[in-house]
Amino acid sequence: MTNIVELKVKPDFIKHYKNKYPLITKDAIANPGALSEEGMIVHLVDQHSRFLAKGYYGKQNKGLGWVLSFNENEKVDTVFFKNKILAAINKRQSYYHDENTNAFRIFNGEGDGIGGFTIDYFDGYYLISWYSKGIYSFKDKVIRELDELGDYKAIYEKKRFDTKGQYVDDNDFVKGEQGEFPIIIKENGMNYAVHLNDGAMVGIFLDQRDVRKAIRDKYAKGKNVLNTFSYTGAFSVAAALGDATKTTSVDLAGRSKSKTIEQFAVNGIDYEQQDIIVMDVFDYFKYAKRKELKFDLVVLDPPSFARSKKHTFSTAKDYPGLIQDTLAITEKNGIIVASTNNASFGMKKFKGFIDRGFNGMKYKILEEFSLPSDFQVNRNFNQGNYLKVVIVQKLG
Ligand code: SAH
Repeated sequence: MTNIVELKVKPDFIKHYKNKYPLITKDAIANPGALSEEGMIVHLVDQHSRFLAKGYYGKQNKGLGWVLSFNENEKVDTVFFKNKILAAINKRQSYYHDENTNAFRIFNGEGDGIGGFTIDYFDGYYLISWYSKGIYSFKDKVIRELDELGDYKAIYEKKRFDTKGQYVDDNDFVKGEQGEFPIIIKENGMNYAVHLNDGAMVGIFLDQRDVRKAIRDKYAKGKNVLNTFSYTGAFSVAAALGDATKTTSVDLAGRSKSKTIEQFAVNGIDYEQQDIIVMDVFDYFKYAKRKELKFDLVVLDPPSFARSKKHTFSTAKDYPGLIQDTLAITEKNGIIVASTNNASFGMKKFKGFIDRGFNGMKYKILEEFSLPSDFQVNRNFNQGNYLKVVIVQKLG
């Protein structure tokens, strides 16, 4: 144990680690120069070299690495990884036993005790997302545990750790029997096409599962639905299966059209009865206003930041404006599903943005969602609880 690197925590930050904060932040460390190789184990210590926590060095935009244990005697070895992964899987037993759903997250980074990677399960396929070179150095331990669990079809991975924290385009196949994509997964009885070997995104964001179900079961029936920032149209599919009269999906990306057609098709929905529009949402708002189109239910799920040719959108700044644009094309007593995955603010602030968007107009909050339970959150790390969805009805 003599050559463990000690990172000195600045006095102001000591209480964070005494309170079990899991992220090693740059501003907390007095001697970041001591870090050399990503994946190395470090000890966080106070100014008298007293132990606070141990963790690993792995550079992410969020920080320098993650705490793995607050116990000086705990070893970070194969057994450590095994125990964390088994505990995580135990917590998801209700998902494993759900006959209508076979895609869910089985390991959620710091929420399950090891920050920097996640594992999703898609009907027998595992997808590991690695968020730093440091955590990637523990790959063998993670794979070994998945092997021991046995009985899987294949393991795929996404490396999300180039210099900008972006996806590294690579061969995503790790081991097993290569899949034929898309595979069709089930979520609350709905089908979704998933591609594990086609770029950073796989076709569905599992964290919106409960919202899709709510749209199908409670909000879509008989409604004319607009789905903005629609990606593969997952919300549109849920609305159509919930007997919406029609859905309109709008996304800027050219690929969104064929991807959305695919999602409708795997559910036996005639996509020609639906509108799928490749357009900047902000242009679509203008178009819809000009054509006097109105919708009963509008889904707003923008990325945290988006840059198109004409617009830069940042949720933290522009959400009130987005609500305002939406209200102009929402029917009387219409419903807006307002969503954001921006971790930099919480629910209270988000509701403030919505309130500002309504600008004195009356409304009622019908329902709120945050992450589903397979996206375990570390209670000492609020930023991990990023998803906020508010379903709000315009009154009048
Ligand atoms: N709501 C989707 C996920 C949205 S991901 C779902 O639940 O599956 C964000 C999407 O926003 C991406 O597909 C991206 O192409 C799209 N996007 C970003 N800026 C946009 C803009 N200005 N207009 C339309 N789409 C945009």
